[in-house]
Amino acid sequence: MPNIAIIGGGIGGMTLALALHDAGIRDVDIYESDSHVTELGVGINVLPHAVRELTELGLQDQLMATAIPTGEIVYYSSHGQRIWGEPRGLAAGYKWPQFSIHRGELMMILYRAVLERLGPDRIHLGHHLAQFGEENHYAWAEFVNRADGSPVESIGADLLVGCDGVHSVVRHALYPNEGPPKWNGITMWRGVTRGKPFLSGRTMIMAGHFSRRVVVYPISKRLEDHGEALLNWVAELKTADDQPMPRQDWQHQARIEDAVRPFETYKFDFLDVPAMIRGAETVYQYPMVDRDPLPTWNHGRITLLGDAAHPMYPVGSNGASQAILDARVLAQALATQSSIEDALAAYDAARRPATTAVVAANRQVGPEKCMQIVEERAPNGFTNLEEIISTAELEEISKSYKRTAGFDPEILNTRASFSVPKR
Ligand SMILES: Cc1cc2nc3c(=O)[nH]c(=O)nc-3n(C[C@H](O)[C@H](O)[C@H](O)COP(=O)(O)OP(=O)(O)OC[C@H]3O[C@@H](n4cnc5c(N)ncnc54)[C@H](O)[C@@H]3O)c2cc1C
Repeated sequence: MPNIAIIGGGIGGMTLALALHDAGIRDVDIYESDSHVTELGVGINVLPHAVRELTELGLQDQLMATAIPTGEIVYYSSHGQRIWGEPRGLAAGYKWPQFSIHRGELMMILYRAVLERLGPDRIHLGHHLAQFGEENHYAWAEFVNRADGSPVESIGADLLVGCDGVHSVVRHALYPNEGPPKWNGITMWRGVTRGKPFLSGRTMIMAGHFSRRVVVYPISKRLEDHGEALLNWVAELKTADDQPMPRQDWQHQARIEDAVRPFETYKFDFLDVPAMIRGAETVYQYPMVDRDPLPTWNHGRITLLGDAAHPMYPVGSNGASQAILDARVLAQALATQSSIEDALAAYDAARRPATTAVVAANRQVGPEKCMQIVEERAPNGFTNLEEIISTAELEEISKSYKRTAGFDPEILNTRASFSVPKR
């Protein structure tokens, strides 16, 4: 049975550990740079294709108890005029829900499952990967304490998987000339605000257009049970070309008024966006970045997964979902192919082209193209939407993104499971 070293205990790394365990591969260790697993981040969406994987890993009850099963998504113009709406999750005919959840709570669900199933001695916190390599079908790695650089441990493994996020040390060593992630000039302010439920209470909205957009959705089942809503929001603004890029740090705090100012006019009858932003305790700032797709993720006994492999713009809510899919496909390949080399080749062949297509679609603004078109054709608002964009055009935008990102309902509901039959 191969020993597998997972570098990075984020959503991708934790899911990979659970998927390998489920596939019967038990000699698995996670090495995480942070010395604690904490509930960092704000909200994320887990789309039905990824919820299917987490369900097949036995986690749906925990998700149901914590997350909001998103019922619909509605797109609005910058004037608050409705452009397009569609049901989501079960209401859209999927066999699995779409969940809106706090990233930290999803992390804790995964972390607790890893502790229970693999055991606490398989998670090595405070292990920051400093160096690694590969010789004679064997990988090695050296870890340091990130705070002071002191050596912590050296290990060997049959396979090393870089799940170390958008600033991946593994990717950088494999592609040293790649340079930093690419910024598209958009600054994202993110936060959560306690408030009243809006629209259906389980609606996700997008309003505006690519250069000035807000995304809002509720993420807490606990607050919903008390008639309240924990609203996760992202407010995005394309800044002038000469503006410096904000720091690439998920925890970088910003001034609340900087986030409010560009959205002062976004006071809609269903939601007062500036008031919602002002109601947040903390506002975080992050640049919208991605990277160009790679020619391969595999280098001998080393591969990449999740944001380390395919960082993408957070358009269409796919970052975490694609990392979860990677994890299940890699685990299935390792459990069913005759060698690690064959498994890595199958994984790369299945997941790299698929995620390359999502990275490209997100650069073309993904399903939010409808907002962009309306802004361009009717910048001052419209009286009859059909004169601006036809229903057929709106339907095609929505369907084509689902096909690209792997969550077309018919295809998802009928495709074979990635689970490996138990012996
Ligand atoms: C703190 C944090 C907050 C985030 N907040 C949000 C959010 O609010 N909304 C959103 O949509 N997305 C957020 N993301 C990103 C989102 O989680 C990812 O895009 C997605 O889930 C893909 O997951 P991943 O496991 O590939 O990468 P990540 O979730 O980024 O996980 C990477 C992991 O690798 C660890 N790591 C990094 N370098 C090393 C190293 N050298 N050695 C060992 N371990 C290392 C990191 O500490 C981290 O735990 C956040 C990520 C982080 C790390």
